[in-house]
Amino acid sequence: MEINTVLEKDTFSKEDIIGLLLSEGEERTLLFRKSAEVKKKYIGKKVWFRGLIEFSNVCSKDCLYCGIRKGNKNLKRFSLSDEEILIAAKFAYDNHYGSIALQSGEVETNAVTSRIENLLHKIKELSNGELGITLSVGEQEPEVYRRWYEAGAHRYLIRVETTNESLYRKIHPDNKKHDFKRRLDCLKSLQDIGYQTGTGVMIGLPYQTNDDLAGDLLFMNEFNIDMCGMGPYIEHADTPLISSTGNLLPPAERFDLTLKMIAIIRIMMKDINIVAATALQAIDPMGREKAIKIGANILMPNITPGRYRDSYKLYDNKPCTDDSAEDCQSCLEARVSLADTEIVYGEWGDSKHYEKRRKGLTE
Ligand code: SF4
Repeated sequence: MEINTVLEKDTFSKEDIIGLLLSEGEERTLLFRKSAEVKKKYIGKKVWFRGLIEFSNVCSKDCLYCGIRKGNKNLKRFSLSDEEILIAAKFAYDNHYGSIALQSGEVETNAVTSRIENLLHKIKELSNGELGITLSVGEQEPEVYRRWYEAGAHRYLIRVETTNESLYRKIHPDNKKHDFKRRLDCLKSLQDIGYQTGTGVMIGLPYQTNDDLAGDLLFMNEFNIDMCGMGPYIEHADTPLISSTGNLLPPAERFDLTLKMIAIIRIMMKDINIVAATALQAIDPMGREKAIKIGANILMPNITPGRYRDSYKLYDNKPCTDDSAEDCQSCLEARVSLADTEIVYGEWGDSKHYEKRRKGLTE
């Protein structure tokens, strides 16, 4: 089918999406032009910050692609103190970031639940309730999600990484701790509790096909997500999946496929929030601004104290691990102005999709 005809459609079929993922030359330009137009119409030029605090690289899981997996013994483990986390949150507040994102490896214990709950209260207190808070700390029981929601977190990001169960099994250990169904159940619980709910996938994984990627986008649309965070798969030397590098697309192709995925989801879900992932920059120095131009509207400047950043490498060549929080902010400001967009300070920048979804529920 002609790409123009596809781009005019209200909904895409799997075949339409695969066609768009394969687009090249003029067709690829048309795809990106369309997604940029949709972004301009529904989101405008604005980009919002989420000050990212990677507060612990301790994880109880062993995902086969991840640099901070439990089984990686070549890694110095760290956990920020409460005081360090609160100082980072105060930095975000004082610099009018609007929101922070608290991210860590996945640990399910009563101690972690209470600690995060307590921190959420303190962050709300130090910012007069003004800092928005996104959590990204993995699978937990619904009751735990509820406690954190009541303590002030209002967005939650849990990446499913792939929605093809058989591919999921190939990139995770085959045991109860890495259960595909539980991950989807968690996503559903978060949505039911009232969080702005986000997910995403890795692009260019070994064994992954365009059919899988099209299925991922259809899943996100059907699930009615509010936020999306997708990035290219980048190998980490100390992981089991490194032995599958023979199956991989070259990094430049993984990068291009990621841009196409962002463009297509922007056209499909016009008013969601889409992150310009740092992993894009690991492949292309201008990766994040390219993503912003064609559809992304959220940036996550890293405000984790600099000395810990080198130990939070989910993948190799992670950029900006030796920058300070101030460096990160000015670098991103320059990048955003290059992409002809403007950073909005002092606003949460909530997903417009969420607002509409909520109204739909209550009307
Ligand atoms: S991907 Fe997440 S849950 Fe899996 S090992 Fe890495 S930090 Fe832990």
